[in-house]
Amino acid sequence: MLSKLSATNVKVEGGVMSEVFTAIQSSIDIVTKLRALSKTIQDADFKMLLADLSNELADAKLEVANLKTALAEAMEQNQKLSERISLKSNETPTLKEGAYSFEDQEGYFCTACYDTKQLKVRVTPLSGHFRTFGKWRCPSCKVSLS
Ligand SMILES: [Zn+2]
Repeated sequence: MLSKLSATNVKVEGGVMSEVFTAIQSSIDIVTKLRALSKTIQDADFKMLLADLSNELADAKLEVANLKTALAEAMEQNQKLSERISLKSNETPTLKEGAYSFEDQEGYFCTACYDTKQLKVRVTPLSGHFRTFGKWRCPSCKVSLS
């Protein structure tokens, strides 16, 4: 489901990019024709402006190519992160002894840290008179769990 969504996004973004690319390419073609025409015109300013425009367009074309590469990389990264998130959400903790327990991991984890930040922070058992505050203490958010 997630990978399907990302694939659609790539298609949409790629479409916009292609349109920009096509527009620049058409502009370059027009400039080429104008340059051919300008051979019959003896206006130095006109020729200089045309040369500037030609350079600007070449730069723009290069920039679009760079953006295309950057976008592809960003999309790939996005895809990887989406996969990691869906993998994470499959892992459901169970509440044991007032703290979270995960199937594949030993020990108990802070419920507050996992619920708010999706962080697995191992809680430490409280002993002695600290025991009145709870069974566990989270070393990260300092909450006492009982
Ligand atoms: Zn915590």
